[in-house]
Amino acid sequence: MKTMLIATNNQHKVEEFQQMLKPYGYEVKSLKDVGLDIDVEETGTTFQENAVIKAKAYYEHLKMPVLADDSGFSINALHGEPGIYSARYLGKDTSYEIKCQHIIKQCEDASDRGCTYTCAIAYIDELGKEHIFTGVLQGEVAKKMEGTHGFGYDPIFYYEPFQTTLANVSDEEKNAISHRRKALEQVLAYIKEA
Ligand code: IMP
Repeated sequence: MKTMLIATNNQHKVEEFQQMLKPYGYEVKSLKDVGLDIDVEETGTTFQENAVIKAKAYYEHLKMPVLADDSGFSINALHGEPGIYSARYLGKDTSYEIKCQHIIKQCEDASDRGCTYTCAIAYIDELGKEHIFTGVLQGEVAKKMEGTHGFGYDPIFYYEPFQTTLANVSDEEKNAISHRRKALEQVLAYIKEA
């Protein structure tokens, strides 16, 4: 069995990757599993750059295949904000209730309510070669917060095919169509062929 490091402290993500990679003969390790606790500064200007920065930093330490992701929420009417600053938007300790309400207000008169979730995944293979995959999900900024599932900006991410926000559907329903899922499927398609 081959080993793959998932460079995240988010146990949810580790489990999702674990499930999807197992059929391809990969044993997935988390940062906790390998006991690696380094702080990687996200100094890139795009999701893709940040994902590569993270993946490279961990590969340098462990020299084993690594997957690292970077994701965020971009709003057309706000020129792509919060984008790569999604987690830090209005301060990293500010609640999502406040962040979401602020965005609703900012988009009050917007003619274009379009928004996007993006997930970039950087994969560094056993030879140290980097590969980048990007998944996107298009939605609209809702006029009010709705739903209690999911996390982050999900209560204001209105997804037309569901006719409601992503916080108003189950995790399974969201994960089946998410930006993360779309990026991960590209990784899997690549690994399958490699
Ligand atoms: P990270 O890639 O885990 O650092 O996530 C970046 C930030 O983007 C999160 O903290 C959220 O603010 C936002 N974000 C990314 N994906 C999602 C999602 O699926 N739902 C809600 N917010 C998300």
